[in-house]
Amino acid sequence: MSGPDGLAIRDLRVSFDGFTAVDGVSLDVPPGDIRFLIGPNGAGKTTLVDAVTGLVRATGSVRFGEHELLGRAVHRISRLGVGRTFQTSTVFEELTVLQNLDIAAGARRSWATLVRRRHGVPDEVAAALDTIGLAGHVDQLAGTLAHGQKQWLEIGMLLVQDARLLLLDEPVAGMSHEERDATGTLLEKVSRDRTVVVIEHDMDFLRRFARTVTVLHAGKVLSEGTVAQVQADPRVQEVYLGH
Ligand code: ADP
Repeated sequence: MSGPDGLAIRDLRVSFDGFTAVDGVSLDVPPGDIRFLIGPNGAGKTTLVDAVTGLVRATGSVRFGEHELLGRAVHRISRLGVGRTFQTSTVFEELTVLQNLDIAAGARRSWATLVRRRHGVPDEVAAALDTIGLAGHVDQLAGTLAHGQKQWLEIGMLLVQDARLLLLDEPVAGMSHEERDATGTLLEKVSRDRTVVVIEHDMDFLRRFARTVTVLHAGKVLSEGTVAQVQADPRVQEVYLGH
């Protein structure tokens, strides 16, 4: 497998009926990086991710590796290795952990592979189980998993689909301290050969795990840097931290 691809966004604009939600954003996430997106409600974070994944129409340019994503259908963008989680869980609660991963992997697998496979856990599923720390829970119904484990299963489902750009929407919301730490470690592991963009508000989590933070406000990039740098930026203090 070749190395990870980077994400390059140029002059991205998204408008809804004349209201500009994303207003000329340019953003580079180097291959293998974890980029945290923060900003007050309505800043345009979700809309930016929607534009990258093809859910809303946008102008400008979004390149992932050698591919331009803008103008492509959602499923084509997904096939180029772009995966996303939402704030609300999308796991099949009535199926087991293994079945959830199998279904996600099946979306990628060719019939030839399915026919060749006789029994046991396929390699990519076993690898994902290991990464997300759910190897001991394969037969557990997803609906009975702890909140944190469900989020990790979501990430696992992206891994077995071979997503190489992961866009995660508030992955640690509602998690315990232990779950947050485990998620930070998981993201570090996952980002070794993938590029990761995370919308996240949890400042404790950011201080511990964020290398670079991009602050959005009113559809524009307001500030960028380490957590300490953006927290010291008076523009950020004014609009985001509220003092
Ligand atoms: P964030 O994720 O940073 O909270 P959003 O991207 O959800 O911000 O929203 C940015 C702005 O765009 C908000 O003012 C929101 O009301 C508006 N917006 C988002 N989606 C739509 C839509 N489908 N139609 C109209 N306005 C929208």
